[in-house]
Amino acid sequence: MAEDFQMPTGELMKGKKGVVMGVANHQSIAWGIACQLAAQGAEMAFLHLPGMERRVQPLAESIGVKHLSPADVTDDASMEAAFAAVEQAFGAIDFFVHAVAFANKDELKGSFVENTTREGFLRAMDISAFSFVDCARRSARLMPNGGSLVCLTYLGSERVIPNYNTMGVAKAALEAATRYVARDLGPKGIRANAISAGAMRTLSLAGISGGRGMIAQGRAFSALKEDTSMEGVAGAALWLVSDLGRSTTGEVVHVDAGFHIMGLPDEAEA
Ligand code: NAD
Repeated sequence: MAEDFQMPTGELMKGKKGVVMGVANHQSIAWGIACQLAAQGAEMAFLHLPGMERRVQPLAESIGVKHLSPADVTDDASMEAAFAAVEQAFGAIDFFVHAVAFANKDELKGSFVENTTREGFLRAMDISAFSFVDCARRSARLMPNGGSLVCLTYLGSERVIPNYNTMGVAKAALEAATRYVARDLGPKGIRANAISAGAMRTLSLAGISGGRGMIAQGRAFSALKEDTSMEGVAGAALWLVSDLGRSTTGEVVHVDAGFHIMGLPDEAEA
């Protein structure tokens, strides 16, 4: 719930309107980001997977989000309708937060080589990487005055993280896509960045074999020796989405308590 977070209030997002996609429940990273943006005065619409209304509506209402639309990133008609609803609600938008990913559970365990199917690989790529390009194209049409696009990624794109498998490859594509989107939309004053968050306890993590271990190991291996906090990830999103981030684009910002800088565990943990 919003009141569980310690997020700074203010007016950094006053007068700004935008979309957050990917709230499934109160543990979702999208929810943490939405709470932070609301606490700084943003006006938002939520795009959520069809069928999630009953879960998402009370959360949205609790932070004053009035516009909710179902949107399945694999279904062009539903994306068309969702963006039409956003345009009707806001006209122009200033930001779009993409916090969406999916891979078949069977492919998030064991051998990457043996367990990756063509169908599963393409599905993970479609939902977790291509969808950001699609959202960027649709959002840009609603950003005549420039804007900011943010997506969520994980270190499994750069390093081998056991069991992350297909999703790691999809995240690598997502990060590369972020740079190409940034280059294309830069002249229109639209920035695109990715936040590489440390492992956090969400529905998506539960789908990965050994997901809980990823959190414990991430903490033990990190420079700060602590879990990645929702406040930290939401704060980075606020920076990138607001005018504070005006000169940053095409970047992958690690918000993982310093997990990514380590090469070997501390001697005591080896
Ligand atoms: P989550 O399960 O709360 O959010 C994932 C969202 O994706 C859900 O809202 C789900 O409904 C949505 N989604 C899945 N398929 C969709 C589709 N076809 N169309 C529309 N929406 C769809 O989990 P989360 O951890 O908050 O994930 C948000 C983002 O953060 C993802 O990109 C994830 O990879 C990334 N991330 C998560 C972690 C972590 O440890 N939890 C770490 C780094 C990055």
